[in-house]
Amino acid sequence: MTTTVSTTCPYCGVGCGVNVTLPAQPNGVVPPVSGDSAHPANFGRLCVKGSSLAQTLNSDDRLLVPHVAGHATTWDNAIDTVANKISQVVKEHGADAFAFYLSGQILTEDYYVANKLAKGFIGTANVDTNSRLCMASAVVGYKRAFGSDTVPCNYNDLEQCDLLIMVGSNAAWTHPILFQRIVAAKKQRPEMKVVVIDPRATATCDIADLHLAIRPGSDAAIFSFLLQESARLGLVDRDFIAQHTSHFQATLQQAIESTPDLSTTAEFCGLEEAQLATLCEWWASQDKTVTFYSQGVNQSSSGVDKCNAIINCHLATARLGKEGAGPFSITGQPNAMGGREVGGLANQLAAHMDFATPGALDLVQRFWQAPNMATQNGLKAVDLFQAVEEGKVKVLWIMSTNPMVSLPDTAQVKRALEKCELVIVSDCKAHTDTTVMADVLLPATGWSEKNGTVTNSERRISRQRGLLPPPGEAKHDWWAICEVAKALGFEAAFDYQGVHEIFAEHAALSAFENEGKRDFDIGHYRHISQREYDAFTPTQWPVPEGRPEGTERMFSDGHFFTGDGRAQFIPIKPSLPVQQTTEKWPFVLNTGRVRDQWHTMTRTGDAASLAKHTGQPYVALHPTDAQRLGINEGTLTRISSAYGEVRVKATLSNASPPGQVFVPIHWTQQFANAAVVSNLIPQTVDHLSGQPESKHAVVQLEAI
Ligand code: SF4
Repeated sequence: MTTTVSTTCPYCGVGCGVNVTLPAQPNGVVPPVSGDSAHPANFGRLCVKGSSLAQTLNSDDRLLVPHVAGHATTWDNAIDTVANKISQVVKEHGADAFAFYLSGQILTEDYYVANKLAKGFIGTANVDTNSRLCMASAVVGYKRAFGSDTVPCNYNDLEQCDLLIMVGSNAAWTHPILFQRIVAAKKQRPEMKVVVIDPRATATCDIADLHLAIRPGSDAAIFSFLLQESARLGLVDRDFIAQHTSHFQATLQQAIESTPDLSTTAEFCGLEEAQLATLCEWWASQDKTVTFYSQGVNQSSSGVDKCNAIINCHLATARLGKEGAGPFSITGQPNAMGGREVGGLANQLAAHMDFATPGALDLVQRFWQAPNMATQNGLKAVDLFQAVEEGKVKVLWIMSTNPMVSLPDTAQVKRALEKCELVIVSDCKAHTDTTVMADVLLPATGWSEKNGTVTNSERRISRQRGLLPPPGEAKHDWWAICEVAKALGFEAAFDYQGVHEIFAEHAALSAFENEGKRDFDIGHYRHISQREYDAFTPTQWPVPEGRPEGTERMFSDGHFFTGDGRAQFIPIKPSLPVQQTTEKWPFVLNTGRVRDQWHTMTRTGDAASLAKHTGQPYVALHPTDAQRLGINEGTLTRISSAYGEVRVKATLSNASPPGQVFVPIHWTQQFANAAVVSNLIPQTVDHLSGQPESKHAVVQLEAI
């Protein structure tokens, strides 16, 4: 007899539902995996990564027991070691000597207890996450415009729009099921226009009616020009602007000054005038427009401004809060949004409240009955690792992420971890580039073993469900955090009898003294029972008391979560990436994903079939550059920047123009020596979001 369990894919932010059919015997070999036809994200479809999930189970590199100082030990000893060291450094150096570095891979409940422990009980806001690398700029963009981190759209809008503008996204490879939905919609309605704005010709361009291969980083200029064209052509919705927004005239004036005409803007963006004119023409003729944006926008030193340049255009034409319209950021990770919901970023407090939100500190303190509230923002990822190297942060707990590969300037990250007095790493895997830096290793449960919730890119909360028993002594991350909290003396506040109690508390906090003041409210779940949690069906927040069906689309009523309820236009002056090419560093380096790998390959690297598409790291460069440098297909090539070097084989490609090269992000020292592309990336960040400019560095190339 078999049983089918519905869970959620652990990879990208599409958040597809997955059905796993379990053998009747718990020691059965590999359970079949299929798409969940009842899940509204994917309706039964899975991409190749999702369909290969079964191959990633039963890894022979699982971390099975805790380790302290390189020796296997008991959980009791590991917990005591961690708690004692936290106590010591907090007593001697203050609460900010401790930090969490979390992950968009962990579940909302894990995030919730980590955030509560740090911000309410230890007293530090040093809780940051690899989501900083993913969507921090989108968060700040939404907050500046709407007063809240609210994604207005849903996936149906992508199928219902007449014009889809995809900016800085290779969704065909990075969000494949959403892309398949778009492809199907376009096939059904060939008149639906798709524009791709990307310096590189990617697989996503296969469905583009117009590809704007812009100068890297010039995205904001396009939307600045679109704003002033909207005004010139009479497309702006004067009533909506008057009733629901502020600062339109100043924003329009800035747009006119920054991008005065077609020819100047086209030149700045490296486009033909006719290309930009076509975009304007389609923008003018199609009211139902979605602008879909991802890492090409966010991973930029001006990522927030790019987001607001996009949102400005939608506000000016009232293209949001309606079917088939809105600015739509797509998260990279399965739970990048769940982390935001609990406050799992150093510049957030909890439940979509910030430290600066009037009354929030007092509210959260009373709700948690917290003895040691942090009172101000903590350190964002890059600043955090710099503080570790400077000796200001002395205990760092890294959970479910691989910063030795993913953070920019990995040489600096290594120096920081070597300097840190205690590095705690919670992971499923025994051997990663980061686990080798740990003083304490905590074996974590992984996908298929954990229970909890995740939120996908359209605000839809879904369950991940435990299917298999944890191997060895692997434990859930929330359990390990609560045990450390109890060892620190906070027994009552962290004495959960099950993960559903954490979710219920998170829901109760979201609704606490809310009364419609804040966007994030899932109060309907505040008394959720174990049975109801087990039966949870995917639902889009807000889900306030009395609205169990959730909320499909936001801002349909023209009300925003700013102080005066009006959306804010933000004047934008387009800028270019901080690093520009020089004689010494003549190439622009772009980074991104390949189709069948995920992040630093700690899971997808276990699936043999996923290596068939792209089996090794590479640098893609234009044939003209290759010829000039004496590089042929397969030539081992050294790529150097001011920060480090990598050595990978070359592949010749017309996807990027001469002068631009592309290297994928996945390969680690574990898989391919000297192929960690983050070695080359500077720690340049957007000054508002702290998100690194990971898609832009200047480098030189030579054949080895
Ligand atoms: Fe998983 Fe994303 Fe593929 Fe869906 S599209 S199956 S969430 S990797």
